[in-house]
Formats: sequence, structure tokens, C-alpha cells
Amino acid sequence: MKDLVLGAKKDNYSKINLGGVVCGGSDIILMGGPCAVEDPAQMRSAARIVKEAGGKVLRGGIFKPRTSPYSFQGLGETGLEYLLAAAREQDLLCITEVIDAESMALVQDKVDIIQIGARNMQNYHLLKLAGECKKPVVLKRGLAATISEWLLAAEYILAAGNPNVVLCERGIRTFETATRSTLDLSAVVVAKELTHLPVIVDPSHAAGRRDLVPALAKAAIAAGADGLLIEMHPEPEHARCDGEQSLSPEQFTVLAREISLLAASLDRIFKITDEKKEDLTSLRSQIDKIDDEIVELLAKRMGLAGKVAGQKSIDKIRDINREKDVITRLTHKAEVLNCPPDLVKQVYTMVFEHSVHLQLKSKLVQKVEHSIG
Ligand code: PEP
Ligand code: MN
Repeated sequence: MKDLVLGAKKDNYSKINLGGVVCGGSDIILMGGPCAVEDPAQMRSAARIVKEAGGKVLRGGIFKPRTSPYSFQGLGETGLEYLLAAAREQDLLCITEVIDAESMALVQDKVDIIQIGARNMQNYHLLKLAGECKKPVVLKRGLAATISEWLLAAEYILAAGNPNVVLCERGIRTFETATRSTLDLSAVVVAKELTHLPVIVDPSHAAGRRDLVPALAKAAIAAGADGLLIEMHPEPEHARCDGEQSLSPEQFTVLAREISLLAASLDRIFKITDEKKEDLTSLRSQIDKIDDEIVELLAKRMGLAGKVAGQKSIDKIRDINREKDVITRLTHKAEVLNCPPDLVKQVYTMVFEHSVHLQLKSKLVQKVEHSIG
């Protein structure tokens, strides 16, 4: 073994600048997000949750090296736009995996951190390209790679000119089948003893099951990891990739709080985003939920209004007295609830206008159908 990666000097570890955030110092770096980028809304809400939890880096795969050729392979360039926009909106860094020269060329000037996946740990051509690129690289350990092979893979990147490498332990294949792979926490300790590079842990791909992820994540920090790469999906049950191992937003948030307590007890730093920001983002997410509910209820209401048309003759579609009664009842209710009555009045005037329009339209359609026979 050459010695670019070797030479751990106590108190002189490499501090890798990921783009304004330093990995390898006292700070624990939390990276989170879905396995794969799926759509803008998914990425926007993932970014918000990562930010609120104190994460610094948004993850999201756009090229997915899947075990089966029939599984979702990622959105490619379109996904890159969604990842970048979501990260920018929350002032987060972003990381994505590259799988070949083409994907490297596409992302290297755009994302903050390049990820080399477990399946490509010994793709020497890709390692050399990572060595020539200007961005920091997270190098995952291969599924069946020894620590020494992993460090030699890192050596390729350093030897090709890129000193900014972060090692990532993500579980290795053993005879055990209860988990997706076996998280090798000894590797964290060994790599930190042998090398000067920061080491992070991905407990998600090791566990393959979300219920194990928090315990493994905390164990990784206790073992000396400098950060965590964790899969979290705003709606894990609907994830297109690795949903079963993705934490829910609530689980991710709780874990982040536990990590901050743990970090403090280990003389390390992990801060949850300041209260003010947390309030704004959580208030916005509550508002988003309410807006969704309002539109769903309006859709239901319009559906019922359409049915009412069948019960009315065409000259009785507009019922001014009924409209007045409803508006009076609702503005009183609004006053009681401390909601501006004028707002309710305006909204319901528009709702009635649309209902009448819808009912007249369906009546006319009925009439035309009837006359054609
Ligand atoms: C990933 O991080 O999405 C991934 C595919 O991980 P690994 O390369 O560790 O399997
Ligand atoms: Mn995954």
C-alpha cells in the first residue's frame, strides 16, 4: 500500500471542506434524503426536513445502479435539476452518485459532493475520474471489499490528485440474512486508526430495514464516525426505491435530536437548526397540509354540487336565499373562530358562482343529449 491515505496523525486528521461545511473536525455531518430523486415536491419536502433536523447535505440518486435491470434506474438529468433546486431552496449542500464517465461529466460542476457507490468501489476508471474532479468524494466500501481494498480504492482517488475523500462504511455481505448486509463498525475504528481521512456511516443500506437504522446510526457515532448518510423519504411507503429502509420524516427528526445529545456527550458538535428557522419551516409544512385539505374538500364539494344539479329544474339552478343562508351561517362561524368574516364571504361567493356555473353546464349537456336522443 502507498501511503497517501495512510498516516493517521492523532490530532491531525484531514478536514475535508465539502463546500462550506467541514467533515473530519468536531462536527458530526448529517446527510439525508431519499434513495432516488422522484419529483420536485418529494425533494422540496425532503430538503425541508433535512434542514430542520440540522442536516447539512441533501442526498438523492439520479443514476441508480440497481440489482435488477427492471428496477427504477433514476431520472438522470431531470432529477439533477430537482435535487439542485431543493438543496438551493434550503441552503443545503447536495450529494449524488456517479456511475460512469458520462454521469460524472454531467454532475461534477453542479453538485457539491460526488458519491461513488459500493458497486463501483473497484471501478478503477471511475476512481481515476473522481481523482481528477474538483469536488469532494464520498467513497463507499464495496459489498465484499476488505478494509485494505477500500483504502486502496481511496488511494486511487488521492493518487490522481484529489485529496478530498470521505470514506463511507455501508455494510458488507456476510452469511447473515436478517439484515441486508452487516454493518462493520470495526471498519470505522480501523479506518480512523490507519488513515487521516474522515469516515462516515450509511446505516440504511447496511440494515435494509428502517427499524434498525436509528440504533445503528447512534452506534456509528459512538464508534467515532464523522457523519451519517441516511435515507429518509417524505412518504416512505410510496418510495420508488429502498422505501423499506427509508426513515419517515418524524423518525429522522427524532434521530437527529438523539444524535445531538449523543454528540455532546462525546465532545462532538451536532446542532439542530435554530428555533426561528425551525418554526418557519414547520409552520409552512403545516400550512401546506391544510392547503391540500382545503383543495380536497373543495373538490368534494364541487362533486356534490354537480349531483344537486340533477335534482333541480334549469330555471331553479340559482337559489339566492340558500346562498344567503349559507353565507350568513358561515360568516357567523368565522367570527366565532376568529377568522375574518369577509374572507369567508368572498370565498363562498366565488364557490357559489362556480357551483352555479357547473350545474348549468351539466344541465345543458343533459338537455343536448336528450334532444339528440
Ligand atoms: C445509495 O446510497 O443509494 C446506494 C446505492 O448505496 P450503496 O452504493 O452503498 O449500495
Ligand atoms: Mn438506496
